[in-house]
Amino acid sequence: MSDAVLEQPKIIKKKCSICKKFVVMVEEYITCPFCNSLYWSKPEKERQLFVIQDKFLDNGRNPEILGEMQPILLSYVKFLLLKMLRGKRKLTAYEIDIKVNEVIERLVIYYLQYPEWKISSSFAGILKFGIIEVLYGGKKHDQVLSLNHKIGEKKDKELNELIINKIGEDNLSIHHEYLIKNNILVKHLMKYIVDFLNVVRFEEGEKYYLYTLMGVRFLLSNKDKDFIDGFFNLAGIEVQENARELYLDIKEEIKEFIKGTQD
Ligand SMILES: [Zn+2]
Repeated sequence: MSDAVLEQPKIIKKKCSICKKFVVMVEEYITCPFCNSLYWSKPEKERQLFVIQDKFLDNGRNPEILGEMQPILLSYVKFLLLKMLRGKRKLTAYEIDIKVNEVIERLVIYYLQYPEWKISSSFAGILKFGIIEVLYGGKKHDQVLSLNHKIGEKKDKELNELIINKIGEDNLSIHHEYLIKNNILVKHLMKYIVDFLNVVRFEEGEKYYLYTLMGVRFLLSNKDKDFIDGFFNLAGIEVQENARELYLDIKEEIKEFIKGTQD
C-alpha cells in the first residue's frame, strides 16, 4: 500500500496570473484552460511584456508599440538592477535612473536594429545581461580586457577563482586539491584560455572576443540557466559555440592534466 503511494506521479500545478486559478499540468498549456490567456503561467510583468512583444511583431515591428513596454520596463529593470547590486555598489537615485534608461535603450536598439531579433524565453534573462553591460561594461570594458592582460604575466585572481569554484562544485571536486597545490595547472589553463580567446579576437574581432570571454565566465560561474540562455540569445550563436567549446576544453584540459599526474 505504501509503495503505491510512493509511486504516485507528482502533480504539478501552475497559477494563472490573469484569472488566478490553479491549472493542473496534464500537458503544457499554451493558453490558460480557464480564461484562455496567453503566457498565463509567466510572472505578471513578463506576461505583459510578451503580449506587447507579440503585438509589436504582428505589426511589422512598429516602434510605437515598443513604447508601450516603457512603463513596465522602468519598474522591472529598476527592480532587477537593485537586486543585482544588493548594496554592493552605492549609486544615487539619479545614477540608478540613468542606468535603468540605458538598459531600456539598449533593448529598444536591439529590437529596431535586428529585424529577426526577439526575446524567446525570459525578459529578465536579457535585461540582466543589459544591466551587467551598463554597470560593468560599456566604457569600462578595458576592465574585462585587463583580465586577459593580467593572465599573461601574473595569474588573474578573479578568473582563477571562477575556475576553482566551478571545479569545486563539479564531479571533479575530488581533484580540487590539485588546483590549489599545483599552480602549474592554473598557469596551464590560463595560457590555454588566453590562446583560445586570442584566436577568436584575431579571426572574429574584438566584439566576439569580449562576448566569448563573458560567456565562458558566466558558464564557469554557474549562472542560472535563464541567465545563460538570455545572454547567448543576445550575444548570438557564434559566441555561444565559442564559449561552450572553450568551457568544455577547460574541463577536458583539467581531466588530462590530472590523468597525467596520476600515471
Ligand atoms: Zn487563466
